Amino acid sequence: MTHTPEESAKPGFRSDVSVELVKHSAADTDVLWAARVSTAGEQSLDELTKDPERSKGLINYLMRDRHGSPFEHNSMTFFISAPIFVFREFMRHRVGWSYNEESGRYRQLQPVFYVPGEDRRLVQQGRPGKYEFVPGTREQQELTGRVMEASYRQSYVAYQEMLDAGVAREVARAVLPVGLFSSMYATCNARSLMHFLGLRTQHEQAAVPSFPQREIEMVGELMEAEWARLMPLTHAAFNANGRIAP
Ligand SMILES: Cc1cc2nc3c(=O)[nH]c(=O)nc-3n(C[C@H](O)[C@H](O)[C@H](O)COP(=O)(O)OP(=O)(O)OC[C@H]3O[C@@H](n4cnc5c(N)ncnc54)[C@H](O)[C@@H]3O)c2cc1C
Repeated sequence: MTHTPEESAKPGFRSDVSVELVKHSAADTDVLWAARVSTAGEQSLDELTKDPERSKGLINYLMRDRHGSPFEHNSMTFFISAPIFVFREFMRHRVGWSYNEESGRYRQLQPVFYVPGEDRRLVQQGRPGKYEFVPGTREQQELTGRVMEASYRQSYVAYQEMLDAGVAREVARAVLPVGLFSSMYATCNARSLMHFLGLRTQHEQAAVPSFPQREIEMVGELMEAEWARLMPLTHAAFNANGRIAP
């Protein structure tokens, strides 16, 4: 059986990404506990919360002087849905990260595709190494949405046609584009997350500006909001010290 574009599984189009904190063991006290073993040896967590100002000062000192290892004794697991091109960039972050992504070999990939939203700046201006993005015209926005959707539909029809003919999923998936949504679990600690955020977000307090692709930045912003809630002192110290991972 073959499918026309209309008969195929109905494609979905998304302009957003999603991030869910599914599991965590992460608090500012984890940093203090790890740091104070240097000077005080083993002590209870209760002791650590007795003097908030001192705790804040210690975290800031560790961040400023780049004593990084106390920021590793915690864990956050995120479930992330984003286009494949975001995951290609994401998985370049090797240190302090664990990944498990959905398989295109063991299950049929669902037709959910990325189309930039209206607020996504579409046009790059300037020379390599010194450029900026500006909003597209109405015509460019309309064209981008229309052409992307048509191309996505066509590729998914081809994918499904091969599956229907008995071709293996791992072979048929070759026709699917990098705008297809995928999902993964990503586990990190505060130190590896800070390194990621320093490179993959833009922020007014960044001492060293980075120029990430907007879509991975959208993922980073959602992860950062979750992390800031869990470790507010560490997050504040990260910002105050130029968003450079210790
Ligand atoms: C704006 C931007 C543009 C980019 N453009 C491109 C591009 O055009 N092409 C491209 O291929 N990549 C590109 N990248 C990816 C980039 O080169 C890094 O692979 C990615 O940012 C991960 O950074 P990382 O290696 O520091 O992180 P991790 O892999 O998590 O490593 C963390 C740190 O550990 C140390 N480390 C890890 N592995 C080694 C090693 N083998 N040897 C020595 N030290 C190590 C380093 O200090 C490193 O900073 C880009 C990244 C950004 C942010």
